[in-house]
Amino acid sequence: MADLYIDGAWTSAREKRTREIRCPADGSLVAEVDEAGGQDTADAIAAARRAFDEGPWPRTPANERGDLVLRVADLLVRDKELLARAESLDTGKRLVESEYDIDDIVNCFRYFGKLVTSESGRVVETGSEGVDSRVVYEPVGVCALITPWNYPLLQTAWKVAPAIAAGNTFILKPSELTPHTAIHLMRLLEEAGLPAGAGNLILGAGPEAGAPLGEHPDVDLVSFTGGLQTGRRLMAAAAGTVKKVALELGGKNPNIVFADADFDTAVDMALTAVFLHSGQVCSAGARLLVEDSLHDRFVDEVVRRAMLIRLGGPFDERAQTGPLISAAHRAKIEAYVAKGLEEGAVLRCGGARPADPPHAEGFYYLPTVLDECTGGMSVVQEESFGPVLTVERFTDEAEAVRLANATIYGLAGGIFTSDEAKAQRVASALRIGTVWINDYHPYVPQAEWGGYKQSGFGRELGPAGLAEYRETKHIWRTTNPSPQGWFD
Ligand code: NAD
Repeated sequence: MADLYIDGAWTSAREKRTREIRCPADGSLVAEVDEAGGQDTADAIAAARRAFDEGPWPRTPANERGDLVLRVADLLVRDKELLARAESLDTGKRLVESEYDIDDIVNCFRYFGKLVTSESGRVVETGSEGVDSRVVYEPVGVCALITPWNYPLLQTAWKVAPAIAAGNTFILKPSELTPHTAIHLMRLLEEAGLPAGAGNLILGAGPEAGAPLGEHPDVDLVSFTGGLQTGRRLMAAAAGTVKKVALELGGKNPNIVFADADFDTAVDMALTAVFLHSGQVCSAGARLLVEDSLHDRFVDEVVRRAMLIRLGGPFDERAQTGPLISAAHRAKIEAYVAKGLEEGAVLRCGGARPADPPHAEGFYYLPTVLDECTGGMSVVQEESFGPVLTVERFTDEAEAVRLANATIYGLAGGIFTSDEAKAQRVASALRIGTVWINDYHPYVPQAEWGGYKQSGFGRELGPAGLAEYRETKHIWRTTNPSPQGWFD
């Protein structure tokens, strides 16, 4: 075993510790991988620091960096099936979803590979004679990239592609539960010609392998995607050395359905919004806000269809969604549902593990609808990150907006209505980073992604996604230097 990639070499963890990776769909052993400790992370930081301060990558012209990023995109296409399979075994998600993810990942690399060559800085019109003034972009330095388990390679791509395009060096720390596609990506970066030390991979648990990244003085930037509590911890750790910090945290995303919405579309999308990948999506539409006059008919239909959803493992072609990532995560969701019921929610479907034997070894949980919820309930306020839909009623547009905004989160959400003016008014009033109107979940790499409020700050994707990884320097040159005489 040699699963850590440090300074251009594959290596084992110094303390020779390993972790078993098991498929959440059936508990089968996928592989055993190295488990790094703090000293391995320190080695990776030292390698990335040297590669930034002395190595060729930050000094490579932008067009050549862009070419390498585009070569990686081609290699990802070549290895699509291997990558999709590995992602499905680690996460338990359906193979077809992993295949979509790899397509998105390829698009992400292509987008940043092209963007970096088209944005080389700008000339500033100063209005002064004899001055030549330019703004140029430079890499930030050593970047710590820390990612979660729900979209392992996708979240990694959103960080690695812009980080290397901008000329940084990095240490990647994927979730300890889903390491395999990160290992594969490092092999592709090596094949594409990324110089030694420019990209480093550390596997292992957050507190041991990840925490040093937030504190270490040789790390210049931390880009983190994951839970709110970890984000807060990293932000505090990074304060000691004033690192640049980008946080993509959780969401408790409202999906607002007005009575004038197209009924069939809104029902269909309400299901996709929350039950895709069993709700383990940061932008999951886990809070259904439905206009009072439509409530009964709409919720009846959502419940009827939720009960028909077929659960299954990655390679079950009939499955419509899969298991949860772990037994611990399922226990957390079960606790949220129990608390919601205590607080007065009405269970309309789900609320249990499936009874049929094929699912016995996997971490499955039935699609669940909790009706008659109110804003104060913890199951409405906190991210359960599972297949649990809470339903709240509203009577008018103002109340819909008020309820939608009444959590600490602000990541994403949906609006379903046939009234275009109303849709635009509500979209403006929502304090969230992505609004979908009569749709749910699509995104493109050209548009920024990120949260308001405690869903984080900084942006991934789009031009701002590249800007996260660049310093902006102003160079002012006087073309005819001469004394000014102020102190004569
Ligand atoms: P998590 O916070 O438990 O872990 C995320 C990563 O942080 C993992 O690699 C973990 O090992 C590491 N980590 C944990 N403790 C650490 C520490 N003290 N120092 C450094 N690193 C540490 O999150 P998770 O359970 O893996 O992911 C689910 C969360 O991710 C959900 O809240 C979800 O909403 C969020 N998420 C957000 C987005 C977004 O775009 N906003 C996208 C995907 C997932």
